[in-house]
Amino acid sequence: MPRSYQICSRCVLDTTDPDIEFDAEGVCSHCRSFDGEISKHWYPNERGGELLADKVGQIKVAGRGKRFDCIMGLSGGVDSSYLALKTKELGLRPLVVHVDAGWNSELAVHNIERIIEHCGFELYTHVLNWNEVRDLQVAYLKSGVANQDVVQDHGFFATLYHFAVKEKIKYVLNGGNIATESVFPRSWHHAAMDAINLRAIHRRFGTVALKDYKTISFFEYYVYYPMILGMEVVRPLNFMPYNKAAALQSLKTTVGYKEYGRKHGESVFTKFFQNYYLPKRFGYDKRRPHLASMILSGQIRRDDALRQLEEPLYEPEDLHRDREYVALKLGISVDELENYVVAPKRYYHEYPNWDRLYGKLKAVQARVQRILGSKMKGYS
Ligand SMILES: [Zn+2]
Repeated sequence: MPRSYQICSRCVLDTTDPDIEFDAEGVCSHCRSFDGEISKHWYPNERGGELLADKVGQIKVAGRGKRFDCIMGLSGGVDSSYLALKTKELGLRPLVVHVDAGWNSELAVHNIERIIEHCGFELYTHVLNWNEVRDLQVAYLKSGVANQDVVQDHGFFATLYHFAVKEKIKYVLNGGNIATESVFPRSWHHAAMDAINLRAIHRRFGTVALKDYKTISFFEYYVYYPMILGMEVVRPLNFMPYNKAAALQSLKTTVGYKEYGRKHGESVFTKFFQNYYLPKRFGYDKRRPHLASMILSGQIRRDDALRQLEEPLYEPEDLHRDREYVALKLGISVDELENYVVAPKRYYHEYPNWDRLYGKLKAVQARVQRILGSKMKGYS
């Protein structure tokens, strides 16, 4: 029986998340897990300042005598841009990596230049092999899965980690944060780090061999990097008050940062994917979890969020222009692109993936944790 529509009485997540549950007051399971587990890792307060100072101290000690003490990716989006400013304030010496997958908007290029100039960091721009990225992206469209951003995201992290290993950098700074992205329906997206899934989709639908496109294996990601090389991901934005509007304002006044208008306007493909492909094909509106997170972290009122959700995802002329651009760049017709949007839905688990391995890893972790009585180091 189809479920009747319901929206959380506290945030704005609704039954477009098939796994959402509501309590007697109509408050959703995401809100409950925020109150329970998630908020334990969030320090928008003095304690956060102390914890961050300790961590920064460790990073500086580990980096003594080295060219860089940490590494960070810079997409030109608000989170990573603001993280760059904070990294400068904290006196860290990051190697900043920008991965160009071919979809940078002009504004993103402008913003990255301004930030690097202001911070005086060393920037390494890695341009992915477009022929391979194009082939992978068309393969993903043919596969019909929800997460069409895997190709860009995986390429981004793989590049970052390969640089970290090459330069022997132990600390990876990440702009991920609880303040604006604590809520996300698990069923909407499969992890971009799953190279088994990526390679399976490419084997089935790709046409060119991947020679330059690097991937990260399950073993590297969960075992080799964290446990053998001792690499650690640090999310500084979770240890300070992080308010999106204030961060944007500070970027504007400090470096002359220019706003994109729509979320993820730094990549034309991501904008098209999030504001058209996902909502039209799967009914997922990524603004919803984003706004829900911001309600929970107290940066927006629920009625303002509801008002924002009523705005159109795309202005018709923008959509027309972006759709033509995406199709042209991918070397397919607009009709073909549109056919992928309306084709029968497919899910990542219809292709080989890392779920079984992941289940085994979690079982081993739980066993070791019971024996050691402490949390195992690694990635969640
Ligand atoms: Zn909720």
